[in-house]
Amino acid sequence: MHFACYCGQTPDRILEIGFTSERHMVVHFWCAACNRVLFISRTLDECAQLCPPLDTETETQSASEDARFLQSLGIAVS
Ligand SMILES: [Zn+2]
Repeated sequence: MHFACYCGQTPDRILEIGFTSERHMVVHFWCAACNRVLFISRTLDECAQLCPPLDTETETQSASEDARFLQSLGIAVS
């Protein structure tokens, strides 16, 4: 996930991540350029959009291709 201060700087460090009662994720971070603490809040839906889950289908496919390759070399993969 990418955070940026209003000034455009990428935050120096994230101080705290929490959730509100409305299930919003709140991130406190420190901006060294502004010398102040800022916070942003995002809904969980927005988080999911920003951090899409890994494409497991691609993973499985390449794994079976690996197995086929190893079998062609005479190595059995259980
Ligand atoms: Zn700033």
